[in-house]
Amino acid sequence: MGRQRARDARAELIEQMKTAQQGIRDCAGCGLCCTAARNAVQILPIEGRGIAAWIERQGTAAARDFQQRLLRAIRRFHLGRGAARTYTCPFLTPEFRCALPASVKPVACLSFNPIERERCELEKRWYQRAFAGVKRQNARARLPSVLQPIPVAVLEALKTGSAPRRGGR
Ligand code: SF4
Ligand code: SF4
Repeated sequence: MGRQRARDARAELIEQMKTAQQGIRDCAGCGLCCTAARNAVQILPIEGRGIAAWIERQGTAAARDFQQRLLRAIRRFHLGRGAARTYTCPFLTPEFRCALPASVKPVACLSFNPIERERCELEKRWYQRAFAGVKRQNARARLPSVLQPIPVAVLEALKTGSAPRRGGR
């Protein structure tokens, strides 16, 4: 029931993102909100696990490459626990697209969308609803309720090797 609600909230968020991209503007080639100019996204361990599981499914070479990118971002932007810092996300591709499928993309990212042609914002109502589901999933998995920058949370999940096998495409 709780898991279903979290899935529904994510599915609605993905629909909302698609509607914004089709109706207002496509994010293709922009990626500004994923760079150190704007991005300070922090996630809970359960989202880190979902991304780590997706990485592991990409094969050994790709997983090694992602791991290197995560490490480089952590070093370059001095990321760790504590106060949020801005950083360029290692999942931002050279084409300025997100490498992650929507099924594992953090809900904070899914909630940040074009509001007008020249203005993008976090859609708070959507974010709060989806993040409440993520929090419940995190608690059910008995993971610490600690927010960390995406690279830190994902690297920790990769190291612990406890990434779930489901949740990506
Ligand atoms: S949400 Fe806005 S800033 Fe972020 S990639 Fe899309 S258009 Fe660019
Ligand atoms: S996970 Fe994707 S959408 Fe989120 S900050 Fe990184 S590149 Fe951007």
